[in-house]
Amino acid sequence: MKIETIDLDFMDTEQVIASFLLLGDGGAALVETGPTTCLDRLTAGLERHGVSGEDVRQVFLTHIHLDHAGASGHLSEALSNATFYVHEVGYPHLVDPSKLVKSATRIYGERMEELWGEARPVPEDRIEILEDGRETEAAGGILVAHDTPGHAYHHLAYLEPDSGALFAGDVAGIRLPGQSYVRPPTPPPEIDVEAWMQSINYIRQVGPASLWPTHFGTYEDVERHLGELEQRLQDWLLFVEAEMDDGMEREEISEQLKAKGDAEMLAEGAGTAQSGFYDLAGSYPMLTDGLMRYVSRRRKKD
Ligand SMILES: [Zn+2]
Repeated sequence: MKIETIDLDFMDTEQVIASFLLLGDGGAALVETGPTTCLDRLTAGLERHGVSGEDVRQVFLTHIHLDHAGASGHLSEALSNATFYVHEVGYPHLVDPSKLVKSATRIYGERMEELWGEARPVPEDRIEILEDGRETEAAGGILVAHDTPGHAYHHLAYLEPDSGALFAGDVAGIRLPGQSYVRPPTPPPEIDVEAWMQSINYIRQVGPASLWPTHFGTYEDVERHLGELEQRLQDWLLFVEAEMDDGMEREEISEQLKAKGDAEMLAEGAGTAQSGFYDLAGSYPMLTDGLMRYVSRRRKKD
């Protein structure tokens, strides 16, 4: 199986959102569709590799957030032979994206159309649910689904056992090519830091040779990368929790977290230019919201 990265040039910016094209004897497969606004880029990417719409047999989704799976409905029309694979909890949102769109509108407001475009439903008979450990034949090889909640309840990472490549979605964080810095994507409404920590350990057990986060690239320093993500996730949670205890408002906390995050980036050799790219994949007001909601939810439970 050959793996190609298609850069979806999200918001005319390179290396922010990827779709992965798998090629082999059994036809072609995709991991992630990207948002509807990047559909032309995805189609151009398929063409560039000599792949027709009919050639694509499987579309594997790590989770149903619009930057990962937003184009699924449109693609179910364009890729007439493709089955869409998704986590059980993500399934109803593919069949009827209206709730998902409503929830995303609360976060993105007037920018919904510009960022993501229209999300159409995928016909039920074109979707298959995958659970942990399930193997699916694709592109002359197999992909193994691994249940990896944390960034979302319904998150799957996919291992390609031959090469050891793990298509990590968002569970392994955001990291941009040429950088070592890993940013934890913690958007509202459903991040679960505890579950995320367990998923990071689970990935260690799975033992991939390389990580392929959707935002963006291929990284072979797996243990260092996961260690940094794990540490920063814990550290940011404690930081936000302490700020909340000090009675700080969301905006202040977001500014403080950005100052902290940018200093951490700088310490790892990345500058303000990189910060803007990372922000496209996960901006501080959104990351802060997610962490604050997690803290409040956990306190309500206690
Ligand atoms: Zn996501």
